[in-house]
Amino acid sequence: MMKPSFIKGFLLYYIISLTRSSYAVSLIRPPYLTPEDFERGKTLTPEERGYNSSSVRQHFSQHFEIRTNVWFDSKYKWPNARVPYIISSQYNDQERAVVAESIREWESKTCVRFIPKSNNDRDYLELTPQDGTNNYCYSYVGRQGGRQFVKMYAPICMSVGQYVHELGHAIGFGHEHQRPDRDHYIRINWANIDPQFYYAFDKYNSNQFTTMGMAYDYYSIMHYPDYSYSNNGKPTLVPTYPGHNIHNMNVILSATDIQKTKKYYNC
Ligand SMILES: [Zn+2]
Repeated sequence: MMKPSFIKGFLLYYIISLTRSSYAVSLIRPPYLTPEDFERGKTLTPEERGYNSSSVRQHFSQHFEIRTNVWFDSKYKWPNARVPYIISSQYNDQERAVVAESIREWESKTCVRFIPKSNNDRDYLELTPQDGTNNYCYSYVGRQGGRQFVKMYAPICMSVGQYVHELGHAIGFGHEHQRPDRDHYIRINWANIDPQFYYAFDKYNSNQFTTMGMAYDYYSIMHYPDYSYSNNGKPTLVPTYPGHNIHNMNVILSATDIQKTKKYYNC
């Protein structure tokens, strides 16, 4: 049985859709991405994708994670790698294209699927530029139960790289540079970081984070870029092994990210 309020909402949407004139088209946006959004996503320019954006590279925006025992508790996993979502009507067409392209990155390379929330879905993501908090960009890690926000404030959080990263948290992944064994692979230049952001560089212990036996991955989308949270223009993360570089958010899912997702979701 559909609830009366849902029917009313649907009828309203239907009537508006019937009567909308060309100038109003862009104002009526459904709470899920359309094939047009995905098509537009494929044609984003490098600038629209957020490539070469020094702000992304140098100040990976504020976001946080709730709970950390990602790998150990199946309740944080999305059943059948199926992630129901709705998207805020506050995103404009170009921003919707960034979201669509980010979802396409995950769906084209892994078994994870972002599905428009149905009436039967109790647990879901709400992709939104506003959630009533002052944070800029954040996601919870894994399925929380009920509605959970992925807040990506426009325009500063709206690059494909950042969105793929934040969806990675929602899928269940923590930060690569916070792995228990990270000190073997990177040096953290604490002097270059504003102390209020030290928390973003905390190290997980092995009860909170398992590497699943995967090698440390400088190119993971879940690794911060090398100038993240720098307060003086100098790098905050430096590889300890010569010849390695850290990605700069132009690289999207790494081979290891893809492998890790397959392993975690067993598909
Ligand atoms: Zn993150």
